[in-house]
Amino acid sequence: MNKQEEFYRDQRICMNYSEESERFEGAVIPPTYGNTLFTYTNFEAFIEAEKNQQTNYVYRRGTNPTVEAAERKLAALERGETCKCFSSGMAAISASLMASVKSGDHILCISHLYACTLDLLKYLSKFGVKHTIIDSTEIEDIKAAITDQTKVIYMENPTNTYVRIIDLKAVAALAKSKGIRTILDNSWATPLFQKPLTYGIDIVVHSLSKYLGGHSDLMGGALITSKEIMESIFNKEYLLMGGVMGPYEASLLLKGLRSLPLRMLAHQDNAKQIAEFLSSHPKISAVHHPGLPSHPDYEKARDFLTGFSGLISFELKEESFEQVKMVINNMRVFQIGVSWGSYESLVLSPNYGYNVEKIKEEGISSGIIRLSVGLEHADLLIDDLNKALMAR
Ligand SMILES: *Cc1c(COP(=O)(O)O)cnc(C)c1O
Repeated sequence: MNKQEEFYRDQRICMNYSEESERFEGAVIPPTYGNTLFTYTNFEAFIEAEKNQQTNYVYRRGTNPTVEAAERKLAALERGETCKCFSSGMAAISASLMASVKSGDHILCISHLYACTLDLLKYLSKFGVKHTIIDSTEIEDIKAAITDQTKVIYMENPTNTYVRIIDLKAVAALAKSKGIRTILDNSWATPLFQKPLTYGIDIVVHSLSKYLGGHSDLMGGALITSKEIMESIFNKEYLLMGGVMGPYEASLLLKGLRSLPLRMLAHQDNAKQIAEFLSSHPKISAVHHPGLPSHPDYEKARDFLTGFSGLISFELKEESFEQVKMVINNMRVFQIGVSWGSYESLVLSPNYGYNVEKIKEEGISSGIIRLSVGLEHADLLIDDLNKALMAR
C-alpha cells in the first residue's frame, strides 16, 4: 500500500472500524456503556469470566464495550495487535515504564522529552530505577550510552521542542539485539503520520488529550503493543494501578477520531505556512519544523513521517524574558495556555522567568516560543503573529 492508500485506510478506521452496529441494534455510533459491572445468569459463568477479565466483561476497571471500540481503532491505526486506554497520557506512560523495569534497572532516554515524563523518570529513582538522558539522536551515541542494566530505551519522535528525528529502525534493531524494550511517545505525529510499531518499536504511548481528542474536552492516554506484552500490563499496571479510561471519555475519543484525518491535514497545512512565514521574519533566529528545508533532519524525517503536525517552536533573536512576554501578550488569536493539539491555536514558552536558568541548562534557548497551530485560517494566524512580533 502506498502512502495515500494507507491514509484512506486510516480514514475508514477512524470513521467506521470496530463499531459493530449489528451488535447494538443498528446504532450508527456505539452506545456509551455507563455501567461499572456486568451481571451473570449463573455463578459458573461468572467464575469463568472472572478468570480472564481482559476478554470478558466483568468490571469497568478492566474492560468496557465503549472503551474497547476506541481501543480497537487505535490498535488498527498503529498496525498493532492490541491497545488499552488510560485516564491520561501520564497514566499510560507510567504503566509502560513500571511494566518494563524493576529496582536496579536503567532507562535510556533520547532527548528532548515532555517535562512530566522527565519528572516521572526522576521519581522512579526512589524505587532504585536509574535513567540517563542523551542529548543526541545519533545511533552511535545511543549505542555508547547503553549499560548492562539498560532495560528500556524511551523516546519521542520527533523529539520534544527541537523536533529532531530518530532513526527508529536502527534503534529498534539495536535494542532487540541487546534484549532492551523500546517505548515511543507518538503524540506529536499521531498514528496517521507515523507508525512506530512497523519499524520494530515495542510499545507506543499516546496522550489522547492532544490531537486524538482534538477538542480540549478529553483527557486520556493509550498504550499499543503486542498481545504478549499487553497480557502482563493488563493484569498488573492496568487493573492494579487503575488509571483507566471511562466510557464517557471513550465516546468523546470516538467523536474526536472521526475528524482526525481532516484535522491533521489542516493542522499540517497551517503549520507549514506559518513555519515558512516565521523563517523569513527579521525578528526570528530559528524555526523548528521538520518540513522546512533548513531543518537538520529534513531528509531523515521522510523515512519515518508521512506528515507533520501543528506543534512548532521558534526562537526570538532577542533572547530575553521581556521580549518573549511582549510577543505572547500581543497575540490575539493564539491564546495563552498549556497543552496542544486541539482546534484552537495556543502559545506558550518554557521560558517562565524563574525557569530561564533551568532551560539554559537543558540547552533550550530562552528566546523560545511554542505554538500549537489550530484550525483557524492560516492568514488570520500569520497576521496575528506578525502584529505580535512587530509590537513595541
Ligand atoms: C501532554 C503530553 C503527555 C501527557 O499527557 P496527559 O494526557 O496530559 O497526561 C505526554 N507526552 C507528550 C508528548 C505530551 O505532550
